Amino acid sequence: MNKKIWIKSPLAILAENADNGIVIQGSKIVELVPKGALPMSAFDEIYDAAESVVLPGLINTHHHFYQTLTRAHPDALNKELFPWLTSLYKVWTHLDETMIYHSTKLALTELLLSGCTTASDHHYVFSENLENAIDIQVEVARELGMRVVLTRGSMSLGQDDGGLPPQSVVQDEQRILDDSTRLINTYHETHQGAMTQIALAPCSPFSVSTELMIESAKIAKENKLCLHTHLAETIDEENFCLKKFGMRTVDYLEHVGWLHDRTWLAHGIHFNDEEIQRLGAAKVGIAHCPTSNMMLASGICKTLELEKQGAIIGIGVDGSASNDGSNMITEVRMAMYLQRLKYGSSKITHQKAFEWATKGSAQILRRDDIGEIAVGKEADLALFKLDELRFSGSHDPLAALLLCGATKADRVMIAGKWKVIDGEVLEMDIKQLMLQHSAQAKKLYTAALNN
Ligand code: ZN
Repeated sequence: MNKKIWIKSPLAILAENADNGIVIQGSKIVELVPKGALPMSAFDEIYDAAESVVLPGLINTHHHFYQTLTRAHPDALNKELFPWLTSLYKVWTHLDETMIYHSTKLALTELLLSGCTTASDHHYVFSENLENAIDIQVEVARELGMRVVLTRGSMSLGQDDGGLPPQSVVQDEQRILDDSTRLINTYHETHQGAMTQIALAPCSPFSVSTELMIESAKIAKENKLCLHTHLAETIDEENFCLKKFGMRTVDYLEHVGWLHDRTWLAHGIHFNDEEIQRLGAAKVGIAHCPTSNMMLASGICKTLELEKQGAIIGIGVDGSASNDGSNMITEVRMAMYLQRLKYGSSKITHQKAFEWATKGSAQILRRDDIGEIAVGKEADLALFKLDELRFSGSHDPLAALLLCGATKADRVMIAGKWKVIDGEVLEMDIKQLMLQHSAQAKKLYTAALNN
């Protein structure tokens, strides 16, 4: 029998009827302890959470781990999406498997330290020497014990066929579909508490053929998988769709068989009222990526209108070349602030922002076992202490995390196991990780420079 741990009397907790804490057994939450009460059954261990603000583990729904190697890259500074991408594609062509290993490890570690317990990644660069990128990501996630939804991204529409990316990073459709099937059969877990899941993610309308969108949707349907892509991020993309396909983005989404509740879209900014209504009716998920949207000046996602119509909102940090960090708690703060600018302070509360990054994010990944502190859910938790200068003098502990700008979790638990203690990842040499990662970043920078 697994031992029971009582996370006792937290300073604050984002859960109903759990003022005196929660009890964990194995990988699950087995009891909520109300105010003034003790756990109903015997427990083996106590963790005194008197100084901790306890959140459900934060869930990141959009990222490109490899981009941690091209943060603040001089070729990409001060540009909007299309010119930014065109500058960086030339660099990303030189990615190799060692780079994928170290960038995945660094991004996941950074996310973990910011209170993230489940991370999705959208990897779509598969040059000749990068066939096994997803296999490497699975290996790293397992090494760290993080819960992941890895998407098999793809690009099949190169410059020769009117797309944006160079030919060297696009693959033919059949090769992409065969590899997608291989990855699903090898890694995708379907049980409650799954640690590794696969989704299919053709990159964007301007880098993928219509045929690949349609065939990916068919494979996803057969395997009950989620589908992911970038959509309606910029007006340039909308104009591209009108010119290339004679359709607006949502018409295109419907045309290729993606307008349903297993689809989640990164950004989802430029929708009109009628499109929002259709996306809502289909219960499509939207990964809101506030920092990236501000960095590339893409626009502001219409979160409340989308939610009102039935769409689901989650949060994503987006790739580390357009953020340029992978910090989930900071991203929740950004979402709250950017959305306040659109809707006003009283409509976008700190609770609302937390809800997007937990319950909302879980829902868009079609997971009902994470994203909430409740009996029967997986024990994925992020504990923060208010022991830095920035918190001194604060009163409401939950609001303080966002308003004072928390950046670092004190403890993180995934599936009932502590992964971070006293702000440090267990069994991890951070200095070594940074040395190895920055060496790979330099290698990539130099390779691109010499070509
Ligand atoms: Zn992205």
